[in-house]
Amino acid sequence: MDDIRSLYQEVILDHSKNPRNFRKLEGKIQSAEGFNPLCGDQITIYLQLEEDRIKEITFQGSGCAISKASASLMTIQLEQKTRSEVESLFQKFHNMVTSPSGSNSDFQDLGKLAALSGVSEFPMRVKCATLAWHTLKAALQSKTETVSTE
Ligand code: ZN
Repeated sequence: MDDIRSLYQEVILDHSKNPRNFRKLEGKIQSAEGFNPLCGDQITIYLQLEEDRIKEITFQGSGCAISKASASLMTIQLEQKTRSEVESLFQKFHNMVTSPSGSNSDFQDLGKLAALSGVSEFPMRVKCATLAWHTLKAALQSKTETVSTE
């Protein structure tokens, strides 16, 4: 268990220091902003959908290591997923970070997001870990807009 723990910590540190997909999307996109006042985490999720499937997903923001790593890992895991697949992964992720360790059997679908399973021992951190997901849901429901940095 200790080996797994240090491996998980490495994944979280790596993704919080070098977040993947950390950029703005342009063109016809959907986006939403999220804020976790408990910790001060801020995030913006950018989405490009192709019919019902996520073609590209990126984010920007600032916050604690958990919120950044969670967003980074989420964008990797959700690329090319459909809305219903996103919904089911969110359920599994939410269960993982809110239920006491050992009661979850769905880790494999979550890929590297399993690195965040330790969050269930720190209830104050659950909102940090789920902020990206709640923001993603808002982005999925938002209207398509054309964003430009010009
Ligand atoms: Zn946080």
